[in-house]
Amino acid sequence: MGKHIYNIAVIPGDGIGKEVMPEGLRVLDAAAGRFGIELRYKHIEWASCDYYAATGRMMPDDWKAQLSGMDAIYFGAAGWPAAVPDHVSLWGSLLKFRREFDQYVNLRPARLFDGVPCPLANRKPGDIDFMIVRENTEGEYSSVGGIMYEGTEREIVMQQSVHSRIGSDRVLRFAFELARQRERKQVTVATKSNGLAVSMPWWDGRAAAMAAQYPDVDWDKQHIDILSARFVLQPQRFDVVVASNLFGDILSDLGPACTGTLGLAPSANLNPERAFPSLFEPVHGSAPDIYGRNVANPIGMIWSGAMMLDFLDTDGGSGRQAHDAILAAIQQVLRDGPRTADLGGTASTTDMGQAIAAAVAGA
Ligand code: ATP
Ligand code: MG
Repeated sequence: MGKHIYNIAVIPGDGIGKEVMPEGLRVLDAAAGRFGIELRYKHIEWASCDYYAATGRMMPDDWKAQLSGMDAIYFGAAGWPAAVPDHVSLWGSLLKFRREFDQYVNLRPARLFDGVPCPLANRKPGDIDFMIVRENTEGEYSSVGGIMYEGTEREIVMQQSVHSRIGSDRVLRFAFELARQRERKQVTVATKSNGLAVSMPWWDGRAAAMAAQYPDVDWDKQHIDILSARFVLQPQRFDVVVASNLFGDILSDLGPACTGTLGLAPSANLNPERAFPSLFEPVHGSAPDIYGRNVANPIGMIWSGAMMLDFLDTDGGSGRQAHDAILAAIQQVLRDGPRTADLGGTASTTDMGQAIAAAVAGA
């Protein structure tokens, strides 16, 4: 097994993306140094509203060529609504990556750490530790539909959901593969076959067919309404939760919300076949309200970097170890401090990044 070398496009983007990115890189460098991984960064200033202000576009025409040869994109945040409407900044950057790079899995962990106040009563660390797998390219989020008799009493609006066999099977497969690697080996499939009487019974059928290929994985399906309630009431029931685009969108905000601050939550937009680069970014946005004061929590960015190393390493060696070491360092700093303001402390973004990097390097 040779030394692992990865090419990473580094895109800080806007607002606190520019403040948390240096801390993400600091921790990645500490992990790379300790586990013999070589990270080659390509620093990119576009996909930001600063670039938009200078050029009138979020990205250059040759953005795809500039990213060729990259193994992953490490992304801060896109959007500065005071200057550029969100639909322009998002459709001009992140959503282009998602679509053109066929990042059909959106993966978000929800995990409760010691030292983080939980909004749910009587929950302790260990009670919440699950992964949400959201279909990221089709489903309910299609642009198929239209309005008839617009502006009249007879006005009618229709919007179609689009579920393909290929698109459903590949995200279900990802969820079952993921569960197989985890200790509990359990998949929950979100559905609503009692209401969406065409698409969801079909989706349930695809899930059952996939499950038959994974006899070592426990699975069940749950209607999205009761499933949402159980996120709050019985979060310890879940291991891997897989859902269509709309249901997954909602669950992937609800899950992390059950575990404390938005500043902690990471995400991955994956092309599991590695035909294109995958993208790793914190769940939070550019947070204009706190930008410029070096007070943002960098953990969402740092944890996303850990997910990136884990994903890039296909033989489960140094990248997996680096991921685990970063998670252990996050856990330690959340317990012992320093803490940023969102966690009730007074530490800066830099203080927290340095503490986590030191814990990774020195452990
Ligand atoms: P998006 O850009 O995804 O639409 P948004 O603009 O609604 O998201 P964010 O930019 O994520 O929201 O910010 C939401 C709130 O959470 C803000 O009050 C922000 O200050 C706070 N917040 C977001 N990220 C962090 C962080 N890393 N540390 C501390 N507070 C944060
Ligand atoms: Mg925003």
